[in-house]
Amino acid sequence: MPIVFYKCKYCMQQYKKREEAALCEKKHLKPTKVKAHKYAFGQYPSTIEVTFPDESKQIYVHEDELWQNGYKRRRNGKRKR
Ligand SMILES: [Zn+2]
Repeated sequence: MPIVFYKCKYCMQQYKKREEAALCEKKHLKPTKVKAHKYAFGQYPSTIEVTFPDESKQIYVHEDELWQNGYKRRRNGKRKR
């Protein structure tokens, strides 16, 4: 008999119970608003500001923008300052 797991569709964490996966999906904050913050190159914003249901705002930066500012990537894909 196959072992059944339920996966959170946001973080991919696996659970034995469907209710646990549903609870995990509920706890993730989904963006309510996305605003272009900065255009440094091309036609897409290099930095965006994202608002969440708890009213917090987070700034997300495109990796090309980070590279231009000296952000280095290690061989295994992880980044290093
Ligand atoms: Zn999750």
